[in-house]
Amino acid sequence: MAVLVLAEHDFGALSASTARIVAAAEQLGPVDLLVAGQGVEAVAAEAAKLAGVEKVLVADSAALSSLSPEPVAALLARLAEPYSHIVAAAAATGRDAIPRLAARLDLMPVTDVVAIHGPTRFDRPIYAGNAIETVSSGQAKQLLTIRASAFRPAASGNNAPINPVDADVAAVARFLAAHRTESDLPELSTAQVVVAGGVSFGSAEKFALVSELAKVLGAAVGATRAAVDAGYAPNDWQVGQTGKIIAPDLYIAIGISGALQHLAGIQGAKKIIAINKDPEAPLMKIADIALVGDLFEVVPELIAGLKR
Ligand SMILES: Cc1cc2nc3c(=O)[nH]c(=O)nc-3n(C[C@H](O)[C@H](O)[C@H](O)COP(=O)(O)OP(=O)(O)OC[C@H]3O[C@@H](n4cnc5c(N)ncnc54)[C@H](O)[C@@H]3O)c2cc1C
Repeated sequence: MAVLVLAEHDFGALSASTARIVAAAEQLGPVDLLVAGQGVEAVAAEAAKLAGVEKVLVADSAALSSLSPEPVAALLARLAEPYSHIVAAAAATGRDAIPRLAARLDLMPVTDVVAIHGPTRFDRPIYAGNAIETVSSGQAKQLLTIRASAFRPAASGNNAPINPVDADVAAVARFLAAHRTESDLPELSTAQVVVAGGVSFGSAEKFALVSELAKVLGAAVGATRAAVDAGYAPNDWQVGQTGKIIAPDLYIAIGISGALQHLAGIQGAKKIIAINKDPEAPLMKIADIALVGDLFEVVPELIAGLKR
């Protein structure tokens, strides 16, 4: 049977996570990709290029203009019948819509999937990522959210047909405004290199050192919850249990102690460099390279060295 994947996008461009979810979903069957929203022609055109997509379904309607979860779940419920799996990224739209869809269909979703062993067997992290459980589902239809960072992206170069679908769903919420963060840095959840800072920077002005280093490396910027709570970094930079889950090739953690809730977000990192004045900090113990020193000396030196 076929798989329906819900595309993540910002109305202008497809999120990088969608290519990863498509690649993951291909393991389950032929993939149809649903682009819901309003004025999403460009997103649909981009979606049609993803390898492995059989067809793109476009639901274009004012009711979907903010992708609020109720109309998205109603739309998915309407389209669900022919699909064995309905899959979304474990990101904003999917996390909101899939549980609501599950309630509508009286099914149990499997969330945060990090590995697929077969059509009904999935791995997902539990206890803040300290253990992985394998779930075997006995349900006729599987509803999944998938951690994009656990999968490689699908290639580009396809030319799948784009089919409009009936997008007549009730808008139960009124969209007021969206506040988007503009950044020329890579997206945190899918970046290959991430530079993150902790509360140790002491102010938003000083935290700018993290962005400066990230810029030199072409990296995304992350932060601890303590740094976010202190107002040094925006909320969407938070990495960890209650923030973003990342899996970069290289993670550079500056002045970060390595609390369990932070480590829950970086378990997929392939190499970790930690900079801390305390060699006993938990993150220093698990880092591939632990650099003991004052970040206000080390980081400017690093930036100057990399620029040379
Ligand atoms: C339910 C719950 C959910 C949570 N979710 C998250 C989450 O998603 N993400 C997250 O990050 N946290 C989360 N937390 C918070 C977490 O427990 C820690 O409080 C937080 O991660 C600590 O952030 P930090 O490393 O910036 O600060 P600290 O723990 O205070 O560490 C600061 C580090 O900086 C070092 N340092 C200080 N000055 C310098 C200097 N000049 N040079 C070099 N090093 C220096 C210190 O030695 C220390 O190791 C959560 C907590 C709870 C209870």
